[in-house]
Amino acid sequence: MAIPQKPIDEIEVQFVKGVGERRARLLNEVGIFTVEDLLLHVPRRYLDRSTILPINKLSTGEETTVIGQVVKVEIIKYPRRRLEVTIYDRTGILTAVWFNQVDFFARIFKKDQEVAFSGKVGFFRGWQMVHPDFDIIDESKEQLHTGQIIPLYSTTQPLRKIGLASHGFRRIIHNALEKYRQAIEENLPEFLLRKYRLLPRAEAFFQIHFPDSMEQVKQAWRRFKYEELFYLELLMALRHALYRSPVQGIKMETSGELIRRVLARLPFQLTKAQRKVLREIYADLKSGHPMNRLLQGDVGSGKTLVALITALIAAENGYQTAFMAPTEILAEQHYLNIRDLLRGFPIRVALLIGSLPPAEKAAVQEQIRNDEVHLVIGTHALIQEKVEFKNLGLVIIDEQHRFGVLQRGELMNKGWNPHLLVMTATPIPRTLALTLYGDLDVSIIDEMPPGRQPIKTVWRTEKKLKEIYQFIREKVAQGDQAYIIYPLIEESEKIDLKAAKESYEHLQKQVFPEFRLALLHGRLSNREKEEVMAQFKSGEIQILVSTTVVEVGVDVPNATILLIEHAERFGLSQLHQLRGRVGRGRKKSYCILVTPEKINEVARRRMELLEKTGNGFMIAEEDLKLRGSGEFFGTRQHGLPDLRFANLVEDQKIIQAARRDAFALVENDPHLRLPEHRLIRRYFQKKYADKFKLVQIS
Ligand code: ADP
Ligand code: MG
Repeated sequence: MAIPQKPIDEIEVQFVKGVGERRARLLNEVGIFTVEDLLLHVPRRYLDRSTILPINKLSTGEETTVIGQVVKVEIIKYPRRRLEVTIYDRTGILTAVWFNQVDFFARIFKKDQEVAFSGKVGFFRGWQMVHPDFDIIDESKEQLHTGQIIPLYSTTQPLRKIGLASHGFRRIIHNALEKYRQAIEENLPEFLLRKYRLLPRAEAFFQIHFPDSMEQVKQAWRRFKYEELFYLELLMALRHALYRSPVQGIKMETSGELIRRVLARLPFQLTKAQRKVLREIYADLKSGHPMNRLLQGDVGSGKTLVALITALIAAENGYQTAFMAPTEILAEQHYLNIRDLLRGFPIRVALLIGSLPPAEKAAVQEQIRNDEVHLVIGTHALIQEKVEFKNLGLVIIDEQHRFGVLQRGELMNKGWNPHLLVMTATPIPRTLALTLYGDLDVSIIDEMPPGRQPIKTVWRTEKKLKEIYQFIREKVAQGDQAYIIYPLIEESEKIDLKAAKESYEHLQKQVFPEFRLALLHGRLSNREKEEVMAQFKSGEIQILVSTTVVEVGVDVPNATILLIEHAERFGLSQLHQLRGRVGRGRKKSYCILVTPEKINEVARRRMELLEKTGNGFMIAEEDLKLRGSGEFFGTRQHGLPDLRFANLVEDQKIIQAARRDAFALVENDPHLRLPEHRLIRRYFQKKYADKFKLVQIS
């Protein structure tokens, strides 16, 4: 009897024939640890021999791919040093030419290799391609294990150095499939495979790496897309079940009296959209079950006030609220605004951020423990162990996209089934909200406060800076305020910080000597930041030179000009967030994007889009298209696992099917205990529950 093999996700990649210790180390570095990881390193694209033009059918000027066998590799010295690699495909010969890095490329190509060249066809004493993209399909004729369809893998420079270019991967993957075929476990239930006619897992691995036809490639991808989405939706379904199970929550009610009195202090009325989401929130609060709600609203739509009113209800009912913001500046700003608004009311508000002096921090912690504060506003300092709430009833998370799901959980654990309100201005396209926040109910503020004028956005090159400064000068002389933003992507980047400091000095001394400027960046102490922000808010400082620390939430309605230097370095959503710093009052506002003369195509499209629209949802959709869902969601900023196969934009149909199936499965077996779900449970725990610790399947 054969000894049962371990499943492929438990076999180290090192044991695959042709890998060994050295290669394994480098594979580990790119995230390939097990045989399964290796098999999941799928081709980035495929070449189909049947659609490849034979050399005798080429025509000049055409962009195409040719495949052939290397017949000559030659470095030619005159008239200009170059490398020529000639291939033959039974119909003719073509020569690829390199003028740069001649020696480097000369080492890559060898006689008898089968190679693919992609590029523009030219004719110069024969068919030619200059600096083509290339792929080595096989080292020599004998080792051909590619059929009609040739899979091409992406790889990294260090991996290529140890023989793991595309063809190298093909070989070890071939070995892995050969030896461990039996160890590939199916991880989808039989009835779903049948329902959608999905390839079994082992077969799908074969077809994705060594396909019989392009149709089989499609089928293999379809299977893995479904698998990936099924497990993602399973995660959602389990989380959903956990929250929705008849968990008792805190019942909260209000007469509305306190809210009315607080609102009476404001110079404006709630918008219809704010009232609508408040009704949805209140229905949750009094339902007796914990609220799990996502509040979505574009920058400036007035989410903070909704949060505050929710906190007032909690306070009225004798419960504490923890309000977590992603930056100290933002926490501080919320704190100051709310404290002022609540002055004279019996609601005690406190600020808890990492940079408070220890004694002060300890005092606030003490008050939280003794239930002497109703509303604590803070940063992730709130989730530290020392923070113990006497009576936490509501958790509010501002700019949720800045936090991981884990941090959300940690804060929740400080109370007994507290209500949860998470807020975000990242305008997730509606179609995706359900998948991303499948475990949350969604409320949307789809209306801006009245009187807001659209922000005029223009894109200019650095040559125009002088005129832009003149424009700012005129506006500021009339009493407006301005932001000038420098791209400090990482606050730790010293060089950028230096650049920002120098620019600030230059601006203050040379450009705007008549105005009061200040520099704000993440390295300032809290006291300093606080002071700068307060002075900007009061108008004492007229122009705030800042890094992106002001990106989220900062609210100074008198600021009407936002100048972003090196705008090409920012992503679309980030630019949109930054832009939200202006246009917060009734005055006309301007966002000026400045870039060097020459920027790449994608950056150019970002600038043009921002000029064209102020609609956050449109921008998010475009952002998705420009970056691809992989990158948009890939950073786990939404607390989701990375997706390798599925595309959240294009695979809507599969998402819906997977969602239905996963929810039905959990409905009928909430703890995945049925014997026929054993493999699902094993796979799920291995892949998701361990990493994300979101769900306990008991
Ligand atoms: P965001 O949704 O981006 O967090 P804020 O809560 O910071 O937006 O609100 C932006 C600005 O709009 C603030 O100055 C706030 O006082 C103001 N605001 C909020 N609600 C209203 C309203 N109903 N009418 C007018 N202004 C409002
Ligand atoms: Mg906000």
